[in-house]
Amino acid sequence: MKTDQNGYTIIIGCGRLGANLANALSDAEGNVLIMDKNGDAFRKLSPSFGGLTATADATDIDALQAAGMDKADTVIVVTNNDNVNVMVAQLAREVFHVHEVIARLYDPERECVYQEFGIATICPAILSAKEINKILDRATLVEASDDAGK
Ligand code: AMP
Repeated sequence: MKTDQNGYTIIIGCGRLGANLANALSDAEGNVLIMDKNGDAFRKLSPSFGGLTATADATDIDALQAAGMDKADTVIVVTNNDNVNVMVAQLAREVFHVHEVIARLYDPERECVYQEFGIATICPAILSAKEINKILDRATLVEASDDAGK
């Protein structure tokens, strides 16, 4: 995990992706806090998770302040709601002046807009399409080389 391991990382959303990132950061001895509005979500963290958890709605600016967002070096926003992700990413950037902000967006049409605000965006549909294309290209290459060998 390449995030600055001495820095402070806040992850918003403890779904499969958020929990996975939090576990990996914690394993790499990173200083991490993960926030979710549903306390049960933290069950996805591994028993060895050594970071902090905060049960709160991330659209509540006081909750972000209490989580120390003003001291965070990196904020990763991966709830299942694009509107929440955009709002929290913008707060992280504009209000708390966080250096590195990464947001997951399900809607590919919104992706490029946020890059202008200095927010890096990850779109699962686009990433998946790229990976599928790579697999198809590899399969086509194998077929072509098989045909050439006949
Ligand atoms: P997943 O769909 O598996 O990626 O999980 C998304 C997570 O985001 C769930 O655990 C939700 O409880 C969490 N979540 C959704 N909206 C918010 C919010 N406003 N504040 C904090 N966590 C949220």
